[in-house]
Amino acid sequence: MTPVIALVGRPNVGKSTLFNQMTRSRDALVADFPGLTRDRKYGDGNYEGRRFIVIDTGGLTGDEAGLDAEMARQSMQAVEEADIVLFLVDGRSGLTAGDEMIADHLRRSGKPAHLVVNKTDGQDPDVAAADFYSLGFESVYQIAAAHNRGIRSMLEHLLGELPEEEEDRADKYPGIRIGVVGRPNVGKSTLVNRLLGEERVVVYDMPGTTRDSVYIPYERQGQEYTLIDTAGVRRRKNVREVVEKFSIIKTLKAIEDAHVVILVIDAREGLVDQDLHLIGFVLDAGRSLVIAVNKWDGMDPEEKDRVKEQVRRRLDFLDYADKHYISALHGSGVGLLYDSIGDCYESAMAKWSTNRLTAILQDAVAQHQPPMVRGRRIKLRYAHQGGSNPPVVVVHGNQTDALPGAYKRYLENTFRKVLKVNGSPIRFEFRSGE
Ligand code: GDP
Ligand code: GDP
Repeated sequence: MTPVIALVGRPNVGKSTLFNQMTRSRDALVADFPGLTRDRKYGDGNYEGRRFIVIDTGGLTGDEAGLDAEMARQSMQAVEEADIVLFLVDGRSGLTAGDEMIADHLRRSGKPAHLVVNKTDGQDPDVAAADFYSLGFESVYQIAAAHNRGIRSMLEHLLGELPEEEEDRADKYPGIRIGVVGRPNVGKSTLVNRLLGEERVVVYDMPGTTRDSVYIPYERQGQEYTLIDTAGVRRRKNVREVVEKFSIIKTLKAIEDAHVVILVIDAREGLVDQDLHLIGFVLDAGRSLVIAVNKWDGMDPEEKDRVKEQVRRRLDFLDYADKHYISALHGSGVGLLYDSIGDCYESAMAKWSTNRLTAILQDAVAQHQPPMVRGRRIKLRYAHQGGSNPPVVVVHGNQTDALPGAYKRYLENTFRKVLKVNGSPIRFEFRSGE
């Protein structure tokens, strides 16, 4: 499972600074969904190849009333869903009443949290931290987020304590793992029911907890699948839970855990910014993607043309992903999704020989030479596969650091075309050895 790290603490203790350091240059996904506060940020980080999700929960002062209380409640919901909670305090200002109240919140939630004393630059870190020992946290980290100090060793400890990633998930959840994601009310639950309601689907027992998405293993036409249901359709008891059920953390985890992500878009609303943020996250995570534009029933022809044009225009960078116009309610177009899912899975898990990749590379280079740098031509010699889901192509040569972005895109397009990679991103790594 991809670990989720939640940052909590009073305003100005350095949460956003730490968030930015942990997620580096990646785009943050800002929670701007109906029913959720706006100031929570979600990003993904990578420490020595280990991926994790970070949430900057924002908005806890320890002394909430009214609207703040609602924000605090939602921050605590994020805390509930996190694997690791980092409670940040300001080593310059010393312990405050707000810190004590937040510590109390955390204690009552029963969630183990680590104390992180920030802004230890320019002072003795032990002295800065001493003030906070009275809060009674077992593990205390001393960092200076603004100077990127102490963060790596903190991550090493935190991630080292978690069980090793993934390996057994594949055994536990068989076949092609499909994540159905999208904004609230786009029709995810309806689609999940449709996908399972297809003829000859055999749903197995489903384990799972309310904290996580529901993982539903089943079989269809001899192929095993596991559907990752972020909407929790099989769990919903009443209408009041409709907004509650939406959770960005579940969505991000489902994306990480999937082979193929179906992003559901509401045709009545068209493509909105949050859809694009979600697409960005799917591609960052290296997952393959199928777009399902839902609620296609009862749309008038002009409206349909307008939506199609919008999808074509705004998703032109995604020309390798299939787009389906469906009605989850009536079932039209839903069966076709399975064809795209199959293609995507094959692309994501494909295995290519070094000979084949090297031949493609050499052809590409012969067609179109890389440029000269510092009086020498960049050389690309051979390629091998470095991984699957997403497929990774490792290219060896020299001066590869200087390879222009446009040339990398040319290589990606060429490999994509020759290898017929559909729906999945391809990741390239370049290595130089003289
Ligand atoms: P947030 O409100 O908790 O998200 O806090 P910010 O990340 O916005 O930081 C608040 C202020 O503290 C900013 O002016 C930061 O530059 C500053 N700050 C953050 N980390 C450090 C640090 O390690 N050392 C010092 N001296 N200042 C820091
Ligand atoms: P979720 O929040 O993404 O899980 O969305 P739901 O599946 O709960 O659907 C939200 C609303 O949209 C419900 O009222 C559904 O009946 C409706 N809905 C879902 N799919 C369709 C569709 O294909 N066509 C139409 N007209 N309505 C739909």
